[in-house]
Amino acid sequence: MKRQNEKLIAEHGVDQPNMTEITCAFCGGSGTDPFGVMSWLSTCCICGGRGVVNIEAPYKVCPHCNGTGAVKTLTCTTCGGKGHVPLPSAPIVSCPVCAGSGDDGSAPALACIRCHGKGFILA
Ligand SMILES: [Zn+2]
Ligand SMILES: [Zn+2]
Ligand SMILES: [Zn+2]
Repeated sequence: MKRQNEKLIAEHGVDQPNMTEITCAFCGGSGTDPFGVMSWLSTCCICGGRGVVNIEAPYKVCPHCNGTGAVKTLTCTTCGGKGHVPLPSAPIVSCPVCAGSGDDGSAPALACIRCHGKGFILA
């Protein structure tokens, strides 16, 4: 049994010291589909109904979706619906193309192509 547990931990990445659990932004922690695409009772596709997601720390609020995890009714492609994006260990600067907004200048629903919606680039 012990070996099985180790495998489970490795697959989910929770043994990484920097991984932390945050409230799922997409469903606001309810664990159900916020937009009721299939059904209002269907399970949130981001957290799988847990209401929380794991993310690597340090992290920041995702500028593209403003931390909501969704752009309009679509899952935010930048953070994958978590509402936060992990920060790299390397130095970063605000993205010069979108000025940190994470949005494409001509189509705000799309992520900035320079920073992929994160609002920052490596310095
Ligand atoms: Zn969720
Ligand atoms: Zn986002
Ligand atoms: Zn950008």
